[in-house]
Amino acid sequence: MDSLKAMWRLQNTEVEMVKLRKEWNDIKELLGRESGAETAEIQAGIAEARARWQKNKEEYEESTLEIETIGRKLEQFNSQLYEGGGLSKELVSLQQNIDQLEKRRHLLEEKQLGCIEELDDLEKRIANETVRFQRLDEQRKSRLSRLGERREEIKGKYDLLKERREELRADIPEEMMVLYTDLVGQKKRPMATLVGENCSGCGIAQTTQNVNALKKEGRYTRCINCGRIIVTGDYLEE
Ligand SMILES: [Zn+2]
Repeated sequence: MDSLKAMWRLQNTEVEMVKLRKEWNDIKELLGRESGAETAEIQAGIAEARARWQKNKEEYEESTLEIETIGRKLEQFNSQLYEGGGLSKELVSLQQNIDQLEKRRHLLEEKQLGCIEELDDLEKRIANETVRFQRLDEQRKSRLSRLGERREEIKGKYDLLKERREELRADIPEEMMVLYTDLVGQKKRPMATLVGENCSGCGIAQTTQNVNALKKEGRYTRCINCGRIIVTGDYLEE
């Protein structure tokens, strides 16, 4: 291949490689931000709600047992009360016990209503948060897999470009490569085209002599300003 054309392709190849490296780094940064903190927080919230649900459930069941015990005692006391006949100290104390137990039972029943309400709220919260967790977790997994796939794609493309770069370099004579590398070292894309009479790299107009020589001989010239290797667009399209 013509060494100048090879050089032009080398430049395009390297520009492409830089783009891929940038995208690779962007993906790396995105993956770094995927800590999963949000889903972990939801999971912790669900676990806490479950623990509270369990505690409420136990309290409810304890109340049920106590209400049953009170029921049996009341039955017993009430029958004693009716069997007891006339008023005596014993009967008064029996009646006091019955009153106390009934008060306690009422309290426990109120508490149970509160428990039922809270259990209901917690169940709703657990259900909603579980749905939210699943949705976010799915989205996160699909993001991660998309980024992973793109990274593989980039790696494949980059490897091909690297091979291509080596092939192109082999087509460029040593002294031209020195020129090229020197311009790259100055953070410039080494090659530019002539646009009208101007260098496409820095925009500066070239001398008439320079332009004429380039157009006649069809090789290259160096920009009088930035030193880039200038060729004509026509030449590249040949
Ligand atoms: Zn220039």
